[in-house]
Amino acid sequence: MPVPRNAAPDIDALKRDLLAGHRAALARAITLIESRRSDHQAAARELVQTLLPNTGKAIRIGITGSPGVGKSTTIDALGMFLIGGGHKVAVLAVDPSSARTGGSILGDKTRMAQLAASEHAYIRPSPSSGTLGGVAAKTREAMLLCEAAGFDVVLVETVGIGQSETAVSDMTDFFLALMLPGAGDELQGIKKGLVELADMIAINKADGDNIKRANHAAADYRSALHILKPRSEHWHPPVLTYSAMTGKGIPELWQKVLDHRTAMNASGEFASRRREQQVKWMWSMLEQRLLARLRAEPSVRARVKKLEAEVADGRLTPAVAAERLADMLR
Ligand code: GDP
Repeated sequence: MPVPRNAAPDIDALKRDLLAGHRAALARAITLIESRRSDHQAAARELVQTLLPNTGKAIRIGITGSPGVGKSTTIDALGMFLIGGGHKVAVLAVDPSSARTGGSILGDKTRMAQLAASEHAYIRPSPSSGTLGGVAAKTREAMLLCEAAGFDVVLVETVGIGQSETAVSDMTDFFLALMLPGAGDELQGIKKGLVELADMIAINKADGDNIKRANHAAADYRSALHILKPRSEHWHPPVLTYSAMTGKGIPELWQKVLDHRTAMNASGEFASRRREQQVKWMWSMLEQRLLARLRAEPSVRARVKKLEAEVADGRLTPAVAAERLADMLR
């Protein structure tokens, strides 16, 4: 029997199928999270809340790198290596530019041909819902659903632009920065402060003629890392070279992720980082909701254009305008 278009989603059935590991149910649940309809959003909140005890068990890894560095090739190779070891791998993405372009190339199945064909993988492109905060919030919830569906490794992909790397590092346990040998990339990474976020730097395409250059780049990064303050006193970010194309170095790369987890567990940082992340998520969701409420308020809508114009013309300070708008929430 066809389901009426406006029917409330059957949360119990969705939960049951999702916990049984059905990828179709997982996809439906994530679509519910991404929906803008307020009844869908309420249902999604309920779903995530009831699934909470089944979440949190995956190894969460953020992966960043400029376009062309080999993110999709790496995720395909690493994902297949993990599946070979009995893991179930989910691939998500945070791509704030997808809000403008209407579609994300990150997390695109066609870029990860082997993983896309595996029944032990689930690939989902970035949600395209306006602000980075909105995109990140939906990806975080999608990650929880993937965990509830039995995926024990979650890879969250992003490109090295703006604040998206911070957002992804805030939702993962391990942040992996991919780099290319040469091309001045090593200095770029350091300038952007990315290196300070990274738990590991991995230099891809260390194959063929590139091996020497990759080793050179690795040495440069290692010395650069020496002068930077590490993110944790219990972990010094390693620098590796590997080839996503040939697979050489992929097992070593994974071993570092496991070593990091062991070190973080031993120091208690793993648990404290997750706790801090949860509280931070709460505040960021609250900010978004308040902002959304404020924007939807008819009296605000009526005044915001005028205030914007006054601020733009320099007749009103941004601080005074913000205060007046915030007052309207009362
Ligand atoms: P992304 O844009 O970061 O996702 O990069 P892709 O994974 O699409 O890779 C960009 C290009 O680099 C493609 O042509 C890949 O075939 C190539 N590539 C990726 N990994 C390697 C590698 O390990 N060695 C070599 N030689 N080429 C690679």
